[in-house]
Amino acid sequence: MLSLLEHMYHELGLVKEFNMNKVTLKRWLLCVQENYRNNPFHNFRHCFCVTQMMYGVIHKSGLLDRLSREDIAILITSCVCHDLDHPGYNNTYQINAKTELAIRYNDISPLENHHCAVAFQILSNPETNIFSNVDQVTFKRIRSGMITLILATDMARHGEILANFKDKIDTFDFTKDEHLTSVSDEIPSCRASTGSDLLQYKNNEMSNVTASSQVRYVYDMNTLIMR
Ligand SMILES: [Zn+2]
Repeated sequence: MLSLLEHMYHELGLVKEFNMNKVTLKRWLLCVQENYRNNPFHNFRHCFCVTQMMYGVIHKSGLLDRLSREDIAILITSCVCHDLDHPGYNNTYQINAKTELAIRYNDISPLENHHCAVAFQILSNPETNIFSNVDQVTFKRIRSGMITLILATDMARHGEILANFKDKIDTFDFTKDEHLTSVSDEIPSCRASTGSDLLQYKNNEMSNVTASSQVRYVYDMNTLIMR
């Protein structure tokens, strides 16, 4: 799984675009793996499943031609990091049990805030910062994008994000920032892939759909991907 994730960063052109140190990329992936717990679902395998599904969607939907490499980096890195250090119990449990995470984040998406904070703790170490060669302004944008996407994985916000996306889907325009933001928000607000979801994915014929239905497809697919 580590090698495949590493390959995705190379193949998507992210290593080249952000001048990533190849050894740092390996170290970062290893550190990410070590920071997923060995619980039944939200483990490193889940991280891999979500990321490889996003990788498939990026290619099948032609997103490499429509989004910037920075957006692609934000999407794929958010997938890799989106459940870091998940303790295996959901937000409702965290809040009801008044856990340390719930208290730290005042009951506001405690898990998602934690996943994101761990992601940036890892990236704050120069040894494991894959973005160490990007300028500060770019890093700020990447950080902001990742925070938005990882926090959007709180299913309590799914209805609100979906409604915003549905408002724009019939007139979707890749050149409008507002529309891109709505799809970027929607993509991670998604469900974990299961066997039947994967089957549905394979049964879709991307080559025959129009641009706007491609966006709908990206949404439909991604609603199956992340949790
Ligand atoms: Zn997840």
